[in-house]
Amino acid sequence: MQKIASQLFKWYDQHHRLLPWRTTPSEQKQGIKADPYKIWLSEIMLQQTTVKTVKPYFTKFIQKWPNIQALSAASQEDILKEWSGLGYYSRARSLKSCADQILSKYNGQFPKHAEKLRALPGLGNYTAAAISAIAFNQKEAVVDSNVQRVITRLFLITTALPFANKEIHQYTRKITPYSRPGDFAQAMMDLGATLCTPKKPKCLICPLTKLCLALQKDNPENFPKKNTIKKKELRTGNTFIALSENQRIFLQKRHQKGLLGGMSETPNHFAQEANKQDMAFAPFPALWVYQGDIHHIFSHFLLSMSVYMATNLSENIGKKGWWVKIEDLTKEALPSLIKKAIKKALPDAFNL
Ligand code: SF4
Repeated sequence: MQKIASQLFKWYDQHHRLLPWRTTPSEQKQGIKADPYKIWLSEIMLQQTTVKTVKPYFTKFIQKWPNIQALSAASQEDILKEWSGLGYYSRARSLKSCADQILSKYNGQFPKHAEKLRALPGLGNYTAAAISAIAFNQKEAVVDSNVQRVITRLFLITTALPFANKEIHQYTRKITPYSRPGDFAQAMMDLGATLCTPKKPKCLICPLTKLCLALQKDNPENFPKKNTIKKKELRTGNTFIALSENQRIFLQKRHQKGLLGGMSETPNHFAQEANKQDMAFAPFPALWVYQGDIHHIFSHFLLSMSVYMATNLSENIGKKGWWVKIEDLTKEALPSLIKKAIKKALPDAFNL
């Protein structure tokens, strides 16, 4: 088991990815420590999102709010605006409440143990373990989907996901060393992201070639074993782009709770098997003209929506919302779905 860690460290010290939130092994040798605020922010952003997508958002957030005090002082609205486009908006909402709790309960210092971290808003088992290991070098088993893949291959775990999760955790705990557990977690993630990939893993240059059971006894691509994937549910609906005589668009706010909570939107409705031509959900009577369909993938359903537009409207008719100049749309906290809908009706809306 120790052999795995020592082989992995040799590889990681030379081939680690350079990530804006990471403290590299050579920086650590110079006495530079990981910043818990950066690790926390990056881990929240990375939930269900790729490193490539997260990088520019992370840089933007750090420039605007360089520490937990600055983030806690920001308004929920501002945070949602900067988060716009990253998806899974409940994460943005819990950022603010977590920052507030770190200040009020912990005097601005993140707790180092996973147990306490887990009690904070937006932090599940994985994120708490990752922060504890990476920011504070605590010996925690950190298992994301990359690590899942590496472990099931290394130890030839034939149980299908998610039933194999317990076994995967036990093996990860066993091979996590007392020395440099944070780097070990990051090395496992890097190995999964760069060499031990789902298809065509680069076993020939992998530091664990001689220790990997899947490579010796089977085809690594057969791991992890998966349950038959459920098909995503399809929801349908429509949205209404109301354009006033002053070239302003009518927006409203979603409820704080639930999908895309607290964000701005054009009036819309969607549900399973909803009629896309049903005008009952239009915000007010007008000559609504069909502009085309848009499609969007959420984590647990697919959405197909028809976009309608009415123009030259008086601004006295919209009561439960507000009117926004087209050129000011970029200042609104609009989810990608709604931006897509507006662009369907007004292709240059976000290029003004
Ligand atoms: S040898 Fe291949 S399958 Fe095994 S851990 Fe390395 S890259 Fe993954």
